[in-house]
Amino acid sequence: MNQSNKPRTKLFSLLTGRMVIVVLLALFAFFWSLDLISALAAVVIFSVTSGLLLQIDRTDTDSTGQKLGEKKESSMVFGRQRGAIKSVRAKTLHAVPLPILIIGEDHGVSFANHAAEELLGGDVVGNDVYLHLQQARIVDAIQKIFVDGKKHAGVIRFTNSQKRTFDVTISRVSGTGSKDVPTQAMAFFYEVTSMLQTEQMRVDFVANASHELRTPLSSVIGFIETLQGPAKDDTPARERFLGIMQTETERMVRLIDDLLSLSRIEMSRHESPDSEVNLPAMINSIVLTASSIGAERNIEFETNIAAGAEKVVADADQLMQVLINLSVNAAKYADRDTTVFVGAVANADNSAVTISIRDEGPGILEEHLARLTERFYRVDDARSRKMGGTGLGLAIVKHILLRHDSLLNVKSQVGKGTVFSFTLKASAQN
Ligand code: ADP
Repeated sequence: MNQSNKPRTKLFSLLTGRMVIVVLLALFAFFWSLDLISALAAVVIFSVTSGLLLQIDRTDTDSTGQKLGEKKESSMVFGRQRGAIKSVRAKTLHAVPLPILIIGEDHGVSFANHAAEELLGGDVVGNDVYLHLQQARIVDAIQKIFVDGKKHAGVIRFTNSQKRTFDVTISRVSGTGSKDVPTQAMAFFYEVTSMLQTEQMRVDFVANASHELRTPLSSVIGFIETLQGPAKDDTPARERFLGIMQTETERMVRLIDDLLSLSRIEMSRHESPDSEVNLPAMINSIVLTASSIGAERNIEFETNIAAGAEKVVADADQLMQVLINLSVNAAKYADRDTTVFVGAVANADNSAVTISIRDEGPGILEEHLARLTERFYRVDDARSRKMGGTGLGLAIVKHILLRHDSLLNVKSQVGKGTVFSFTLKASAQN
């Protein structure tokens, strides 16, 4: 369209007002000299020429007197600049890692940055926003912007089908109201999924810890009341109840020790351990403790520390706690008359040592493996409590290993047994 207008504009720009008057006069004089012109023809020629002159004037200038050619050129430059600014803005919004949508008055999405497309789908632009954010509170918020003329519609919590939660801020992007710059709404999504998970974990943790303490505490209070009342003079009952009270009190002490130990480990999480630990000495002393727990059910311990796997880089106290928790668990949960194998082996280039504790116990069903290191998670609640477990042993192991840049691996076969293993950095002294 622009190209077809070009020659016409050029022609008109050549025919200035003065030239047209000269042509008019020349024609007029020529026909007059030949006596060919009548008064009527003179009027016609004059009108046509004046019309042409007016047309030229209108083409050359606008109502403000500015030359249209100049204006068009400057508006093209301005348009180009505006286009460039728009594309820089779009690129900047695309670079924001949080989802952003620009929504029109008709609820159509006119812009979505990459994060928003990732969250809501590549087809979000051009679609009605309500198709993608089907929540009544989002609808209300957008109404507040366009219908009530509010600047901010507050923060709305939005959860998508993948259980990701966002705090969505919806605010007005003021336009001039014209077709070119209409009023729009901007939706900014701030992800709060992990914050909510942490909050939930804290709530669950307090609830679980309180529950774990309340159970033995209620039992102790019950026995105290019985001993003060009906069993006051019953010596055998008193002996039995005092024994139970002692067990329950010890359980509470263990629980508090484990809780304190967990928070101490978490505090040192980012300090890398750098001392050298002699594995054979440590494993031998741990096996002595664990054997005494398994002795009643005739559980034996066998150790095998391969050459080159004697020394590791670790925090000695924390490694001791890991080995005690795993060995004591093996002694507690392994079947009667079986053996627990504690071993250490270096990798091919002697840079790391893998330590494993294998029992011939009942094994653990696959579905429990991923949750074993959660605080207070137990496969068999009754058995764990009967064994005096706090449900925190493997959580402690996991956190200590995280500090050592290591992970706890669990392999188990129901009816055959379980292997817990982890890898530590080998000491250069091996
Ligand atoms: P607990 O104090 O209950 O032993 P842990 O965190 O040490 O808590 O262990 C969590 C659960 O994992 C235990 O309750 C038990 O059900 C299971 N478990 C741990 N070690 C073994 C094992 N060697 N064999 C079978 N189950 C085990």
